[in-house]
Order: sequence, then structure tokens, then C-alpha cells
Amino acid sequence: MGEPAPVRLYNTFTRTKETLVPATPGIVRMYSCGPTVYRYVHVGNLRTFMLPDLLSRTLEYLGYEIERVMNITDVGHLTDDTFDRGEDKMLVSARLEKKSPEEIAAFYTEAFMHDAASVNIRPAAHYPRASDYVPQMIELITKLIEKGHAYEVGGTIYYDIASFTAYGKLSRNTTDKLLAGARGEVDPRKRHPGDFTLWKAAGAHRLQVWPSPWGPGFPGWHIECSAMSMSLLGARFDIHTGGADNVFPHHEAEIAQSEGVTGHRVVSLWLHAGLLMLAGSRMAKSAGNFFRIRELEDQGFDPLAFRYLALQAKYRTKLNFSEDGLAGADRALRNLRERLQEWSAESSETAGDSDAAAAFEARFRSAIADDLDLPAAMALVSELTRSAIARPDKATLLRRWDRVLGLDLDRSVPDLELPAGAANLLEARERARDAKDFARADQLRDELAAAGVVVTDTPEGQRWKVQVGKQRDRTSRPGPAPTTP
Ligand code: AMP
Ligand code: ZN
Repeated sequence: MGEPAPVRLYNTFTRTKETLVPATPGIVRMYSCGPTVYRYVHVGNLRTFMLPDLLSRTLEYLGYEIERVMNITDVGHLTDDTFDRGEDKMLVSARLEKKSPEEIAAFYTEAFMHDAASVNIRPAAHYPRASDYVPQMIELITKLIEKGHAYEVGGTIYYDIASFTAYGKLSRNTTDKLLAGARGEVDPRKRHPGDFTLWKAAGAHRLQVWPSPWGPGFPGWHIECSAMSMSLLGARFDIHTGGADNVFPHHEAEIAQSEGVTGHRVVSLWLHAGLLMLAGSRMAKSAGNFFRIRELEDQGFDPLAFRYLALQAKYRTKLNFSEDGLAGADRALRNLRERLQEWSAESSETAGDSDAAAAFEARFRSAIADDLDLPAAMALVSELTRSAIARPDKATLLRRWDRVLGLDLDRSVPDLELPAGAANLLEARERARDAKDFARADQLRDELAAAGVVVTDTPEGQRWKVQVGKQRDRTSRPGPAPTTP
């Protein structure tokens, strides 16, 4: 294989598209903020976790090798992370579910792996758990104190944001604005209200507690990602991903920590996934407006319909989720699989070799290389299906593109079951037609349509088709087995 193709990616830090130049030629090292394993992930979280999957599929397709890390946060993430206060989310769940934090973490990590696999998010190479990296965090905090970036008050260590001149660059100084809105108590021992916790003193009675040079305590959420990313990928790596809501304070803090320790830039490109919205508000567990992928599956949707839906929007824009939108994606996905099945029946030795096929392939590559323009790639899929090129060529291209899209386009499509009562309506309509009672036949056709059954009349009699989204296919596919990291 020749040189990997150039790829441009939108860097939140510079607010521009930049050409990816891996620190090690040909190999891209990427770190992604993973879930806090105190509850099930919702489809909004999955949209964010799909970004590193789509990136790695795209980069592999274009000839790069990828090393991918996604962390598992199992300690230190407070209920109010914007204002650096509240309770540890893990301990809240442990209390509510009457389990140990370790049991909570193990259970929700496995559920996360399963849900991610159901939307074809391929696993990362490493899933470090924060609780396994506490010594590395203590080492970073010690260096930050030595370098004058951090200070101790009563066994708690705060980062001194005034000591890091670039603080606020990633989020464009939302700090003051955000803090102006902060209500309630701020630790009066902080030098600046925006100083954030690196290490929090805790009594030995706390469930998750570690010894440290400053006494027993536990790490702050932000230092975890500095420690895990640099431990596994080194002090310079190529891409860091997260959700748009991670820009501040989480990633702003990570830059201050990692660069405060090393004295140089650590991450080349910061990529953020746009938020998934539900009826105009951010999908969030705390607000109670969210869907789990399993719920949608139980409603009869193919989980990959959610992936199809996500691919139709640019990864970094907000995306509004609706069940109607999902039903549309489910139908489109099913149709695409049906078409591929038809085209595959006509095989050809020369599939994929025509000039027209090569032109499609070139356009697909330039779409994905342009900051993962998957909506453009999906538009190409539609254009290809309508185009006049040979069907075996279409099949070859779609199969190849599916390595990036991850939609299992090759899956065979089972026939949909007739909804309850529809068989009787079909029979009645056949009789009405035989009796030349066309008014009655039309009325029955409308009733069937309302039930999701489309009837057409042919010289051989009436034909029917069950519409996806009205009566969805109930045949469950064997889901990927849950795996543990
Ligand atoms: P958490 O488990 O709360 O740490 O969240 C996991 C990831 O999901 C984070 O990177 C968040 O940025 C992301 N996330 C949370 N809510 C949404 C949403 N509504 N849409 C997209 N991503 C989200
Ligand atoms: Zn993180």
C-alpha cells in the first residue's frame, strides 16, 4: 500500500480544519473520553462514542494504522462537574443500588460494551480504568505542585488556573462566564473560584480512597484523562475526542494539566461530537429525557438504524433525535440491504473495475477524508443506488464502503410479519375485487395502509408488502456477546 491519503479534521482548539500529520508517520494514536460507569449509556452517549469508531474506520480505509484508547471512569466524576462540586456519581449509584462501587463499575462497563457493540462501534485497543491509574495521577499532581501549577489546602490539591496562561483557549474563555453563573458554595480556600480539584481529601470511611503524599483521598475527574492518555499513548499523540460538553471544563483542564507537566503541546487535534437533542433539549439522564439503545430495539428498531440516523448528520453538529426520524432510517436501511441482496445475485468477474465505479470510489474517499463528511458519503450511497452503473459494481462498492459505514449492509432481510388482523382484511379485499366492488376494495386498501400494509393490484392478483417502521421486523438477530475489557 502507498502513502496514506491526506485527511483534514476540524480541530476545536484552532476552530479550523487541519491536515492530520501523525507524530509517527502512518500510525494515528487516539484517546477518547469514555463513559462514567455509574448507569446505562443513552443513545446521546453512543453518538459521541461513535466518533472515534468512525474516525478509526475512515483512517484505516485511507491507509493508516490506528492505536485507540478509551477510558472507563470509575471514580472521581462529581455530580456537578461544571462547578467542581457535588457527590461522586459512582458512590451515588452504589448507595442507591446497594452495591459496592466495584460492582456498579463492572455491571455498567459490561452494559456499555454490549450497547456499543450493538451499534457496531468496534472496540478500542485499550480500556484503562481510572482506578488502576491512581499512582500515575499522583505522580502528575506532584509535578504540577513542583512546577507551581497546583497548591494544597488541607489535603486537597487544586490546580491554580492563573498559573497557566493558555487556560481558557480551548473553550474560548467561557470560564468567567460560567463561573459568574455559579451559585452555592465555592471552597473559600481556592485562590480563584475556577481552580479545579486534582486530588480531593477524604476520610478513610469513604468507599473509594487511596493513600497519597497529602493524606487519604481520591483523584479529580480531569487528572484521570491526563494520566491515562499519556501513560498509554505517550506525551505527544494525535487525536483526542469527546462530546461537545467535554470542551469545558474537562478538556480545558486536561490541557492545563498535561501541558503544565510536560511544558509542550500533547494533543495535536481535539475533536468533539455534537450533542444529541430530544425535543429541543440535550438528551441527558439527569433530565430524564433519554433513550437507551435497548429500549429502541425492544420497540422493534434495528439498533443500526440509529447508526444510519447518526451518519446522516455531520458528526459535530447538534442532531435532533425522534422516533419518526429513526423509523425513516430503519426503512432506508432495510431498503438498502434489500437492494444489495438483489444486486449481489448478479455476480461479475469485473465488478468494481469500471471507470464509473472508480469515480464513485474517489468521491467517497474524498468525502470521508474531508473531516468525516459522512452525510456526503450517504448522499453518494443514494446516488449510487440510482445510477446507471452495473449492478455488480454497485454491490462491490457498497460492500466496500460499509467497512466505514458499519451498517451491516450485507445482512439478509427477513420478510416482515403481517400485523394482527391484516390477513383478514386482505382476504376481504380479494373477495371485494372478485365481486367488482371497487369502492369496498379501495376502502380496505386504505385500512391496510393504515396498518402498515401496502397493497398493489397486478394482473396476477393483489400483492402486499409490510412497511418497515409501521410493523417492524421482530426477528431478533443474535446480538454480540457482552465482553469485558
Ligand atoms: P458520561 O458517561 O456522563 O461521562 O458521558 C459520556 C460521554 O457522552 C461524554 O463524552 C459526553 O460528552 C457524552 N454525552 C453526554 N450527553 C450527550 C448527548 N446528549 N449527546 C452527545 N453526547 C453526549
Ligand atoms: Zn476524559
